[in-house]
This record gives sequence, structure tokens and C-alpha cells, in this order.
Amino acid sequence: MYDMYNSAFAELDLDYQYVPLIVDDLGKAIEGVKNLGMKALGVTIPYKIDIIPYLDELDENAQRIGAVNVVVNKNGKLIGGNTDGIGALRALKEKTEVKNKKVVILGAGGASRAIAFSLKDNQAVLTILNRDIKKAEELAKALGEDISFGGYEQLKRELEEAHILINTTPVGMINTDTEGQSLVDMELLRPGLVVMELVSKPRETKLVQDAKRRGCEVVYGYRMLLHQGVEKFKMYTDQEPPIEVMERAMEEISGD
Ligand code: NAP
Repeated sequence: MYDMYNSAFAELDLDYQYVPLIVDDLGKAIEGVKNLGMKALGVTIPYKIDIIPYLDELDENAQRIGAVNVVVNKNGKLIGGNTDGIGALRALKEKTEVKNKKVVILGAGGASRAIAFSLKDNQAVLTILNRDIKKAEELAKALGEDISFGGYEQLKRELEEAHILINTTPVGMINTDTEGQSLVDMELLRPGLVVMELVSKPRETKLVQDAKRRGCEVVYGYRMLLHQGVEKFKMYTDQEPPIEVMERAMEEISGD
């Protein structure tokens, strides 16, 4: 993923480097960012919510979502934002419109929140299903009236009339207990359903493989990764990103 940004910096002759950093103590890491004068941060699982108390400000979008995936250092002031929602929307729109479409979202964590708000803004009709039903209910309430929620046992019924299914859980991700698994029985998938997977490693998760076998349209996790990154690049640099360069780098790293 770092190559996606570094290729774009090189293309525009920008003297930046995007480097992966592992955090031991989040508070100290943030002090380090300020003291070292780092320009910006990309934030990923599991820090998207935990980082919030350490920031000076959240933009309107991150405030509403309650999760941050990008931080920009503006003269020593750390401002959090979130590009997951717009990234997911762009990836989905490569395959389908969302207005008035019934969308079933699996998961109610940070990514789900970002995507749900973005889809609601675009007049999709949402159902949130989660293992912890309380969290699904909280998200449904935060989104406003008329949002359905429940547990995964409702999946069969909800999918009967759905246009789009989005997996926002890490189930199926490489090097985890759920590698090779899917939350959705293959029999529930049918031609015409658009299945979006957030997991990008591996690219061909069990859900993606099953969806293809059953004739569904697939939106891969790496397409969202690209589009959320394009938006981050704009925030990092205040410049228009060379999207084809980022896309090429992303294709190279995400092909299994
Ligand atoms: P998060 O805030 O920790 O939320 C995780 C969600 O997944 C929760 O709803 C959780 O349910 C559910 N979950 C976790 N393990 C599960 C299991 N074994 N069975 C059923 N449900 C399970 O994480 P996040 O930040 O939203 O990220 C979620 C996934 O999206 C990660 O894999 C991340 O890499 C991916 N992601 C991809 C992109 C992209 O651009 N492609 C962008 C953002 C995130 P409970 O509430 O019941 O625990």
C-alpha cells in the first residue's frame, strides 16, 4: 500500500515518504509525530477510534463517523479526517448506482460507520447486521430513522430483496483465525447481487470466490483501498493525485 503513495509522490516530484510504523504506545507515538514535524498519518485498524482523544480537532466528516483514517499536521495542530466512506462509494459506483438500492452491511465497526453514512447521504436504503446486535442498533440510531438492524441470522431474509451486500468485517482476511471463511452461505448469493468485499488480502476471499461462482457482480477490497488513498493523497499534499500511477502500483501489490 505504501508503494501506492510513494509512486505518486515520485511522479509529482514531492519530497515525501510514506512509511509503515508499528505503534507500542499511541500517546507517545502522537507526541513523536508532533515533535518530529511529520506532515501526516494514515491510520488503520485497530487505532481508528482510539486515536481520537489524542488529536486537536476532527473535521466534520470524522466527527460524524466517530472514526479517523487520516491525520494532517497543520502547523503543529493534528486534524483527523476519514476517507473510507467516499472511497467505498467510488469503488461501488464503478459497478452500480446506490440511490434507492437496498444495501445490507455486515459489521458495525469503524469502516461500516464510514460507509453507512456515505451511502445514506446518497439515498441508499440500509440494513446493518452485526455479531454484536447492540452495536448495529447504535449505528442504525446514529444514522437516523428507518434504518433496519439485526444479527447475522437475519441475513437470509434481508438478502432476498437486497441489491448490494457489503462485508465490512475482517472475516476472510489472510493470517487470521477466519482466513478462508465467509459470513455468507454461498446459497444465499444470486446473480444480479452486487457483492462488495472490504478485505483486500487475499484479493480472492472466500466471499469473493463464492460471489463469482454464483454470478454476482464483485467489488474488490483493493478498489476501495485505491479510492480512499486517492482522497488521502489530496489531504496529505493539497495536490491532485496521479490516479493512474496509484492504480498501477495498487494492481501490482494487490494481485495475489
Ligand atoms: P473494526 O472497527 O474493528 O470492526 C470490525 C467489525 O467486524 C465489527 O462489526 C465486528 O463485530 C466484526 N467482526 C470482527 N470479527 C468478526 C468475526 N470473527 N465474525 C463476525 N464479525 C466479526 O474494524 P474496521 O476498521 O471497521 O475494519 C474492518 C475490516 O475492513 C478490516 O478487515 C479492514 O482491514 C477492512 N478495511 C478495508 C478498507 C479498504 O479500503 N479496503 C478500508 C477500511 C477497512 P463485533 O462488533 O460483533 O465485534
